[in-house]
Amino acid sequence: MPPLIAEVIAIGDELTTGYRLDTNSRWISQQLCDLGISVMYHSTVGDDLDANTNIFSVAVKRADVIVCTGGLGPTADDLTRQAIATMAGVELEMHEDQLQHLEAFFARRGRTMTPSNKIQASFPKGAMVIPNPEGTAPGIEFKTRHTDTPATIFALPGVPAEMKQMWTATVERKLKELTGDTSVIHHHVIRCFGSGESHIESLLPNLVKRGCDPLVGITASGGTISLRLTTRAESVERCLEKMSDTQTTIESILGDLVFGYNDDLLESVVAAQLRDANETLAIYDEGLNGDVAAMLLRSGGSITGSAMQGSGQLLNKEQVITKAQSLLDQSGIDRALVIGELDRSEEAIANGKSNFSVALVCYDRAPVAEAFSFSGHSATRQAIACKRVLNFLRLQQRRKPA
Ligand code: ATP
Ligand code: MG
Repeated sequence: MPPLIAEVIAIGDELTTGYRLDTNSRWISQQLCDLGISVMYHSTVGDDLDANTNIFSVAVKRADVIVCTGGLGPTADDLTRQAIATMAGVELEMHEDQLQHLEAFFARRGRTMTPSNKIQASFPKGAMVIPNPEGTAPGIEFKTRHTDTPATIFALPGVPAEMKQMWTATVERKLKELTGDTSVIHHHVIRCFGSGESHIESLLPNLVKRGCDPLVGITASGGTISLRLTTRAESVERCLEKMSDTQTTIESILGDLVFGYNDDLLESVVAAQLRDANETLAIYDEGLNGDVAAMLLRSGGSITGSAMQGSGQLLNKEQVITKAQSLLDQSGIDRALVIGELDRSEEAIANGKSNFSVALVCYDRAPVAEAFSFSGHSATRQAIACKRVLNFLRLQQRRKPA
């Protein structure tokens, strides 16, 4: 059977005006992909009956599954149920059991139910109810019968927490029935730093290409390269087995470039290294505004010191080592990191001359220093420079004591 085609529709003026970001469509699309359903269309529409009716009329012709969010509330601008009914040419009808459910909901919370809330118990004729365990607006499941090919609409509320809960409790199972597929999809992300996307891809020539199983996708964000492995099997355990060889191959080729998995960040990895070694790091930061210390602190790393007023003097590798050595001697702690001053003038950056030196001095091993460039787009170079320092720390933490 060819994969089912899906359309995701986000409804609400707050979305079309750009006031709020449509995160529901993203989440729903990821879930649909994991079910093997091909998401071919995303539509966003304001709170207007004609516009909504149009969108549904188009969607039921081009998609097998339509998932929409928003417009199920009790107010005049909540029009999803009317739009589905108009599109299908059916009436709205009151579901008595849903009315009682709503009345009980309001009574439990000690709130008075206004007449407008009653609309939430009405459904297009022929629809089924998708229960909403913690909210007032039940969802709607509606199968079209007037088009050449049948389509199923799942209408869910806009509130993300309610939408997700209803998806997990009801919609997911219904979609599995539609696809007839009981397998699971599993993803595993390998996170790398220290080389560009195209270089990493060239190191893995036979792995990152269409049609492979597991499929390996590569994406870059803020200097971090992520390799996302995806496979499908009858169980998660079987997926892990299927991925294991590819994973081992990638890790042995990329070696130290790999810093973590899934949601790991460079700072969380370094903070964990410090915690595991029961070590505190003193940071003296002249060049990067204390951002490296802040990132490590947020991830639970044990840090002292922070941003310092730079001397205005650019330091070479020997000079940062000397500073780090005196910091270690003064502080009496395990390790000291010094981030040297950098030249932030546009001219220096444009000419690739904005280098900064970083030194790490530890009580139990030889001092090391490295120079990094401060380069790239103005919006991202500060964050990437911090990551370069964190990656340096990560690699140094892995060195064996002398
Ligand atoms: P109800 O939740 O009462 O059924 P509704 O379905 O129309 O009403 P709204 O009142 O339009 O939902 O929105 C409720 C909340 O959900 C708002 O905070 C809104 O910004 C948020 N929301 C709605 N749609 C989306 C979306 N696509 N992505 C993220 N948040 C959304
Ligand atoms: Mg709305």
